[in-house]
Amino acid sequence: MDLCDAREALKAKGLTVTEQRLAILQKIFDMGCYFTAKELHQALPSEKRVDLATVYRAVRLFEREGLVRCVGEIGNCRYYAKACIHNPPHAHFRCEKCGRLFCLRPFNFDDSKELISLAGEGFEVRRVTLMLEGLCAKCRKEQLINHEEGGK
Ligand SMILES: [Zn+2]
Ligand SMILES: [Zn+2]
Ligand SMILES: [Zn+2]
Repeated sequence: MDLCDAREALKAKGLTVTEQRLAILQKIFDMGCYFTAKELHQALPSEKRVDLATVYRAVRLFEREGLVRCVGEIGNCRYYAKACIHNPPHAHFRCEKCGRLFCLRPFNFDDSKELISLAGEGFEVRRVTLMLEGLCAKCRKEQLINHEEGGK
């Protein structure tokens, strides 16, 4: 599947197309799942000369417009992901030892229904952010080995 086109996406949302927005959104569409505003800023080509504050503003705007979704907050750092057909909603797993973030399989229809129903009658769910935390397979294995060695 081809990458989404930033110009088309901005137009579809009725947003003014500026060089900076184009550069930022195209980079978001190019990236894998998650990124922080800082990482996004660093990934932009230097000749675009977009400052960090502009990146923050653009990401917040894209989030409001549904082009980007927040996938979770770690410390005071917000992680975002592109919200297009190439990246269906899914939960993430955060390893509390190595800090890595893993993308889990996309929510299926039943998962979504189940999660939304948690809110109960009268509530309108607009987004679901789900972060599972614990030890990743690698860190868990290391911990088990350390345990065995410690026990000798
Ligand atoms: Zn896309
Ligand atoms: Zn880990
Ligand atoms: Zn992800």
